[in-house]
Amino acid sequence: MQNKKCLFVVSGPAGVGKDTVVAAMRQAHPEIEKTVSATTRNPRPGEVDGVNYHFCTVEHFKKLLAEDGILESNFYCGNYYGTLRSEVDARLAAGKEVVLVIDVNGAANVKRIYPDATTVFICPPSTEELERRLRGRGTETEESLHNRLETARKELALAETYDERLTNVTVEQCAEDLYQLIRK
Ligand code: 5GP
Repeated sequence: MQNKKCLFVVSGPAGVGKDTVVAAMRQAHPEIEKTVSATTRNPRPGEVDGVNYHFCTVEHFKKLLAEDGILESNFYCGNYYGTLRSEVDARLAAGKEVVLVIDVNGAANVKRIYPDATTVFICPPSTEELERRLRGRGTETEESLHNRLETARKELALAETYDERLTNVTVEQCAEDLYQLIRK
C-alpha cells in the first residue's frame, strides 16, 4: 500500500529558487528523494540529462502521455513539462519520502490525484526580488523573461490555496524550514 502522506509537492513561481532550496535540503538529508521531470525545453548550460530533467523531443513526450506514463503535465512558456508516473510510484511503494518540484498547475493536479499529499508554496521575499533573481540568472531572452514575470504574478496569487507556505529569504533557512515541515 502506498503512503501518499509521504508525498510533498513544492511549488512557486519560476525564479523563486525552489530547485535550489530542494537541492540544499537534499544535500543535508539525502534520504528524501526528488523526482526528475521530463521536459521538451532545451538544457541550460550546466544542466545534465537525467539529473535536472529528462530532456526529450515533443514526439517522445506525446508518446509518454499517450501511454499514460505521465502523472501530470503542463505546457509552460512554449515547452512541455511532466512528472513521470514511474518516478513517483516506485518511490512511494518503497516507503520513501518523495518531493516533486513543479509549477502551480502541476501542484493542483497532483493534489487531485493524491489528496493526502502536502503542497508547499515557496514565496519570494518580494516581487521585486523575484524579478531580480530571474534577471540575474541571465539565461532568458527578454521575451521569455517578460512571459515568466507575467506568469509569476498570477502564480503568486495562488499561494493561499496551498497547505503550507515558506518564504525563501536565504536558501539555507528555507531548506531547513522545508525539512522541518516534512518531518512534522
Ligand atoms: P524551468 O524551465 O525554469 O526549468 O521550469 C519552468 C517551470 O516548469 C517551473 O515553474 C518548474 O517548476 C515547472 N516544472 C518543472 N517540472 C515540471 C513538471 O513535471 N510538471 C509541471 N507541471 N511543472 C514543472
